[in-house]
Amino acid sequence: MNILIMGAPGSGKGTFSSRLKETYNLDHISTGDLFRENISNSTELGIEAKSYIDAGHLVPDDLVNRMVLDYLKNKMPKDNDGYLLDGYPRTLEQAKTFKEATKGTDLDVDHILYMDVPHDILKKRILGRRSCPECGEIYNIYFKAPQKENVCDHCGHELSYRSDDNEESLKIRLSDYDALTQPVIDFYADHGQLKKINADADFDDIWSDIEKAIG
Ligand SMILES: [Zn+2]
Repeated sequence: MNILIMGAPGSGKGTFSSRLKETYNLDHISTGDLFRENISNSTELGIEAKSYIDAGHLVPDDLVNRMVLDYLKNKMPKDNDGYLLDGYPRTLEQAKTFKEATKGTDLDVDHILYMDVPHDILKKRILGRRSCPECGEIYNIYFKAPQKENVCDHCGHELSYRSDDNEESLKIRLSDYDALTQPVIDFYADHGQLKKINADADFDDIWSDIEKAIG
């Protein structure tokens, strides 16, 4: 079974990717990891990608496509039951190329999951996050606030704020994500392939939605 999973920062994509990978024995592939691997092994593709990154440019669609397809065709371990692609395709061009290149092969995608969460909830999830540097407990000032403001319920330590985002930068990050990804979502929806998961729900409900979608 081959799956694409899409979702904005804070959509819970990472959590459910781990669960999918374990439950269905999938090879979980993120393009970020592919880049790092190719660059650290100085492959031809890695050297090419590094030249863009070093110059402060985005890696072009064509190179991203080649790197993903090279991995799927030549490097993916044979002992799993399919792939779970995370963070790809990110643009309409990537989606079109990927569809063409895998159509009718055993790399063709079976399920496309979109983890749908309203922006205001994403913002609260990301900006509300607090953690205890002493015991590691995670809080959220909107969804799981400590009893005493900014103090850990377990050990009494002051909580810390680790997000790199402030409200303004997060707004830009989310609208950049939408601008790139909405055409990809529309593309798959037009082909009747998109499975929208309501990811603004309890863990168990989201998981049962996902199981229904791929079942
Ligand atoms: Zn603590």
